[in-house]
Amino acid sequence: MEPPLAARTVFPEIERPSPNRGPETHERLGVLFHHSEMGFEETIARMQDPASQVSYHCLIAQDGTRCTLVPDTFVAWHAGPSRFMGRSRCNDFLLGLALAGDTDLAPITGAQLASAIEWLSARWAPLGLATDRLTDHRQVSPGRKRDLNPAEWERLSRAVAAHFGAAAARTSFPS
Ligand SMILES: [Zn+2]
Repeated sequence: MEPPLAARTVFPEIERPSPNRGPETHERLGVLFHHSEMGFEETIARMQDPASQVSYHCLIAQDGTRCTLVPDTFVAWHAGPSRFMGRSRCNDFLLGLALAGDTDLAPITGAQLASAIEWLSARWAPLGLATDRLTDHRQVSPGRKRDLNPAEWERLSRAVAAHFGAAAARTSFPS
């Protein structure tokens, strides 16, 4: 029997609610990754400023600490003009998960990778996520956005696929 999700949490989680959010109508069909360019605290301050009109659902610090800014069920304002799965307005159906820092300047840290996988683990089965439901800002807003760095997106994608692919294989072959 698996322990409850809370018992498996390794990285600290904090909540710093952002006023920059839409209605409680989020479809939660997939996840859109970002890097925030700025540091952890600086990004949180921007998301809490009503004038910025931007927010992620969650921001992950270099040490793996996660900050929830907008609850999953609410629309966050992270994508802007965007397209994925044949649809525009990604804010309506993709959760925004951001890695603090700039992936063009420094790689995603090991703690950030592990924390992102932990965040995904809590949502993978409940939301019916799959690797083809994950993307990044560069891909949904081509020519307009540069996050993530393509090599770092590949690294993240491989780590996620390895983690959830292995978990799926284990449940397919009960001992
Ligand atoms: Zn972005």
